[in-house]
Amino acid sequence: MLPVADPVTLIAALVALFGVAAVVWLMLAVGLRESPWACASVAGANAALAGSFLLHEALGLAPRMNDGWSDFLSLAAFGLVRVTVPLVGERPAPWRSTALLIVAVGLGTARFTGGPGTLPHTLVLFGAMSALALLSAFDAWRLMRARGLNARAALVLASPLVVVGLLLLSRPVEASLAPGRTGDIDVASAFNIAWLWASLVLALLINGWIAFLLLMKLVLEIRRLTERDPLTDALNRRALSEAVDLEHSRQMRGHGYALVLLDMDRFKQLNDTLGHAAGDAALRSLVTLLKPCLREVDRFARLGGEEFCVLLPHTGIAGAALVAERMRTLLAEHPFAWEGQGWPLTASFGIAESMTGDATAADVLRRADQALYRAKAQGRNVVQAVELELARRPER
Ligand code: GH3
Ligand code: MG
Ligand code: MG
Repeated sequence: MLPVADPVTLIAALVALFGVAAVVWLMLAVGLRESPWACASVAGANAALAGSFLLHEALGLAPRMNDGWSDFLSLAAFGLVRVTVPLVGERPAPWRSTALLIVAVGLGTARFTGGPGTLPHTLVLFGAMSALALLSAFDAWRLMRARGLNARAALVLASPLVVVGLLLLSRPVEASLAPGRTGDIDVASAFNIAWLWASLVLALLINGWIAFLLLMKLVLEIRRLTERDPLTDALNRRALSEAVDLEHSRQMRGHGYALVLLDMDRFKQLNDTLGHAAGDAALRSLVTLLKPCLREVDRFARLGGEEFCVLLPHTGIAGAALVAERMRTLLAEHPFAWEGQGWPLTASFGIAESMTGDATAADVLRRADQALYRAKAQGRNVVQAVELELARRPER
């Protein structure tokens, strides 16, 4: 037997829980610079649910009025849940269609059903709330798929909202199967007690779930900031170094890799003529232009200044030459434009492949650097590799 089997006590517990959650989320919305609107929306949903249960229990004071407002608030709560999911994902939220649905269903239940406890009321009100929760679950699933999660992981992460949708749906189903047995939410039936307990657990779960999603978002954002170059959004030197070291350790198991170093030609001239802002834009446009030349597994990084490096896993020198040549031609064929003025952008490329004798990735990088030096010496806008005899000499 459950420790508390009195609907009014359980409803009071729900009011307290939603009330506290609303205050905490509101504090986060004000204090947290990340996702304030999502936090405010969750605060609103919790407050609306607290208000809805509170008004419902105050039914005796002004039955007709409280009844309508209680329904409206519970609908608004799930409407807010519906807009929270896109807000967390920084997507446009379906404010208008959700508001329209809430008003239509709110007015419909107030005018055309017999009030709480009647079958039409339960069908329309809980049917609409369940639809909103299930739509949110679908949005959450889609959002996570778009963020690269596989279908199963996305389903697991969206499942708390599916469970909420099903819990809401269980009321009209129970009301249809056993008309008149349970009726309103505060009738002390076994179904109601179980339903209210499940609501308590789910209220905690959903609040924790949204907090978890926001935390994950924050962690991903921090990770992005630590591995990306802020100007071009290419990987930074540290992230590349980690990726190259990892690839080098795999090389011991027979998987070779190649590096392409590229340095823009006479970049100082561009800066001096068009200005530093134009230089920055040229760096960005180079990354945008050249990234599509690469495979998903390749890594493109800015080492600093106007020097970039590409890591090509499972690639030999011939493959690296092909990629570098493709990048070189693409860049040369697309002059950079700044305030109506064209500027030819070219770069010099040095390539190297890993060899079994290389103790660390720095050996491969040194060969690519020697090759780049040769490319510059040869007049720029060319791809070069070093002969192995030259590569074995200690330093250039
Ligand atoms: P080379 O063909 O020999 O490579 O000549 P270069 O002019 O490209 O090379 P140099 O090393 O002489 O000059 C590089 C210039 O890149 C100097 C520096 O002002 C500029 N630079 C480095 N980082 C940035 C940046 O973040 N933004 C801009 N706009 N310029 C940068
Ligand atoms: Mg340069
Ligand atoms: Mg340079």
